[in-house]
Amino acid sequence: MDPEAAALAEHEEVGSIWRRGSGLWAIVAIHSTALGPGLGGTRFRPYATFGEATDDVLRLSKAMSYKAAMAGLDFGGGKAVIIGDPGAVKTQALLIDYARFLDTFEGRYLTAEDVGTSQADMDLLGRHTNFVTGRSASSGGSGDPSPLTAYGVVRAMEAAAQALWGSPSLAGRHVAINGIGKVGHTLAELCSDRGARLSIADVSPVAIARARAGLATEVAVTEPAAIHRVDCDVYAPCALGGALNDETVPELGCKVVCGAANNQLATAATESALAARGISYVPDYVANAGGIINIAYERGSYDADAAREHVGRIFDTTARLFEESSRSGEALGVIADRLAEARMAAAGGPDAKR
Ligand code: NAD
Repeated sequence: MDPEAAALAEHEEVGSIWRRGSGLWAIVAIHSTALGPGLGGTRFRPYATFGEATDDVLRLSKAMSYKAAMAGLDFGGGKAVIIGDPGAVKTQALLIDYARFLDTFEGRYLTAEDVGTSQADMDLLGRHTNFVTGRSASSGGSGDPSPLTAYGVVRAMEAAAQALWGSPSLAGRHVAINGIGKVGHTLAELCSDRGARLSIADVSPVAIARARAGLATEVAVTEPAAIHRVDCDVYAPCALGGALNDETVPELGCKVVCGAANNQLATAATESALAARGISYVPDYVANAGGIINIAYERGSYDADAAREHVGRIFDTTARLFEESSRSGEALGVIADRLAEARMAAAGGPDAKR
């Protein structure tokens, strides 16, 4: 079976749509509803080909199943892509057509914000379909998930510190953050509040200036191309995917990688390369689950305290991975994948709720 067919076969349901009137060209992929409806954002990008968009949506929706399962949520994994340049083709008519397309899945897929879509888009979709999360607080949603994503990452860092250095305290620890955007900036504040030393990098001078002005502690600013080499305790990739690859892993200066970016490992082999260097890697989908936990709480009547408490439990999940790893010698990601798969299988497998 070719790799695309194999990825498709792992999914419960995949649907695509083209509407000439509005120019809507979209794919929804539902990897698993074993634990509940597939939850995941809509990515709006000018993919070069339909095949590229299909590869992306299949990869991302599978990852969402693992993220929700490890976060202890009763949700499955799904994802959507809209093909096109959002700056050029995103119109109200297109989003209304998209809302109608979401209705056809009858709640088996719930969407949210992702690259190229905004909270305002979720608010608009929410006026035409029930199957949307991540709306603004004024529209009855939970607002920006980034602060809770950052909180989850810092809790994962504390669990790593506990496992590696015997105390969860980050006081005096050196944390290097690449990407001081919505998540990275709050993460820098949380680390600074906990007494950590900070190195930061970003391609945006505006983001750097905001961090310099807004953080209570002195920060060392480094070039994005060099921050992975900083001699530090924790390296937190918070920009784009693929931060850990054949070039960067041999040069890493940290003892543990724990950040918010999705898809940090360039390939499946990268985790072994990290292990060979004695560097722990907290799986991205475990550390950055705060956002999805937050939007999952929107499906009832949103309770911010309960959502935050749930995000805080990323500490326990990460601590468990370190404990099992010290017993078995396996990489944290191998253990996390297995635990997520076991949870889905115990719920009856990928097709259980169909
Ligand atoms: P953002 O766009 O607000 O911030 C990203 C930052 O990275 C920006 O400041 C940008 O200038 C910078 N950047 C871009 N390319 C860079 C490069 N090559 N080197 C250094 N810096 C670079 O995004 P965000 O919401 O903070 O998300 C950050 C990462 O976390 C993304 O990978 C996202 O998928 C992931 N994530 C975010 C959330 C959330 O709640 N926002 C949840 C889960 C995962």
